[in-house]
Amino acid sequence: MKTSETTAFYPGSFDPFTLGHESILLRALQIFDKVILAIGVNDSKHYYFTLEQRIDMLQDLYTDNPCVEVVTYSDLTVLAAQRHKATAILRGIRSATDFEYEKNLADINRSLTHIDTVFFFSEPQYSHISSSMVRELLRYNYPVESFIPQNLKLPKGI
Ligand code: ADP
Repeated sequence: MKTSETTAFYPGSFDPFTLGHESILLRALQIFDKVILAIGVNDSKHYYFTLEQRIDMLQDLYTDNPCVEVVTYSDLTVLAAQRHKATAILRGIRSATDFEYEKNLADINRSLTHIDTVFFFSEPQYSHISSSMVRELLRYNYPVESFIPQNLKLPKGI
């Protein structure tokens, strides 16, 4: 049954958030009433930006947009999506490799909770952009402005 407000649960590390992520989010807002940017916390993973830095960056970026909410979660993605009353999980696909991986995850998630995953193919001009590429550039002090949203404020001293 369709609820009155549709909510997409957009999970990711967002380490950092890129133009590719932003494009998926903005396109999803054409279809969903609300998008929850859900930063997944995995203790066994090492992140470039701390959790607090990633929360701050995203909250600051969408502070004027009431249709975007930023949350964190450290359990299974589907359980977190269910807790937030999501209509669907949202993911982006850049390549055949992404597709294979995401299809498997979507099948498992749907079998666990009946929550479907909605996919957006990346826009061609963003399909080469990844957080890991941005991190690599940052490590070598290379400018990353052309890969991240204009208003995303990276923490000073990075
Ligand atoms: P994860 O660690 O879960 O892969 P990411 O932050 O790397 O988290 O990515 C979150 C989502 O955004 C994934 O669905 C990923 O495929 C998608 N994504 C990342 N970069 C792009 C891009 N350039 N274009 C479209 N989707 C993207």
